[in-house]
Amino acid sequence: MSTSVTQRSALEGQTGGQMKREAKLFVPDRVFFEPAALDYPLGKELYQRYQAEGVPIAMTTSHNQVRGIPGETDVEKYRNAKRTLVVGVRRTLTFEPSKPSAEYALPLATGCTAHCHYCYLNTNIGSRPYVRVYVNTDEIFQRAARYMEERKPAITRFEAACTSDPLAIEHITGNLQRAIRFFADQPYGRLRFVTKFHHVDPLLDVPHNKHTRFRFSMNADYVITHFEPGTSSFAQRLEAAEKVARAGYPLGFIIAPLYRFDGWEEGYSQLLENLRAKLSPEAMEDLTFELIQHRFTKVAKNLILKRYPKTRLEMDETKRKYKWGKYGKGKYVYPNEQAQALRAHLEREIGRLFPQARIEYFT
Ligand code: SF4
Repeated sequence: MSTSVTQRSALEGQTGGQMKREAKLFVPDRVFFEPAALDYPLGKELYQRYQAEGVPIAMTTSHNQVRGIPGETDVEKYRNAKRTLVVGVRRTLTFEPSKPSAEYALPLATGCTAHCHYCYLNTNIGSRPYVRVYVNTDEIFQRAARYMEERKPAITRFEAACTSDPLAIEHITGNLQRAIRFFADQPYGRLRFVTKFHHVDPLLDVPHNKHTRFRFSMNADYVITHFEPGTSSFAQRLEAAEKVARAGYPLGFIIAPLYRFDGWEEGYSQLLENLRAKLSPEAMEDLTFELIQHRFTKVAKNLILKRYPKTRLEMDETKRKYKWGKYGKGKYVYPNEQAQALRAHLEREIGRLFPQARIEYFT
């Protein structure tokens, strides 16, 4: 598939009048299958579907190591990888922790079709940016049931968006729908996920028993415009949030990354005012906010600058505080005073506009 000049500019990170947001349903340029995936009904179904549609298909021995994605340069390969679907079997059934939003990550997919410059996947799955979907959901859910059993009577929360945006590929797999149905029957389990997409319609009638919290990632206009190519617009996400709330799902917003641009206070106030103005009272009944400040690692910075060379994303280590993490791996966050100012402003504005909402954490 050829890339137009406008698309290329947006992908490189050039913004302003030239950027065009695309959030059509993802159709891969090519699909790889692990042979074992064809032993599962979903694997078979996808194989037949893409064969019928004439999408190029190839086999791969492992979804962890896919060879043959075209591209002359690393950047071209990266962009093509984001348009490549890999259908595989999830073999690692030890779930990663997912603090602070949940106890465990629920592994339904890895990789994302969008091009957010700041995305944590830049490093998390750095060398394998293709979009992997897993067909053995029954085994994944059985494992989740064991985690719930171990922790009961405590409630165990599972986050389905740790390594992908699951809504971007839901029309392909239907895995979210399966997960929502599964968790609807779990007295000790809750599902949550976050998205920057608006393709919610197929999920509105799924029985959820209020056990799934549907969150939308929202941001100030400046951040969405400059750093989130390939995602749905703010207005589309907001409209989708309304639909989801009307369908009775508990609703949440993640404001991330909280980013200090010129005029950030006004920008974030405006964002919250817009949410307040458009949301119906029923959408606000059980509303949560999660606040995550912008962070980056040195590895991420290098990859981001290669992949989006014209990005305006500020990643000057001298202006940040280094925060040590697990295994000696740290990241750059805002210095305490600046982080505190972000937090205080957001908390004050959320308190003013959504007095009944709960702020789950700021990190
Ligand atoms: Fe990353 Fe989410 Fe953007 Fe996808 S939508 S690129 S997962 S930040």
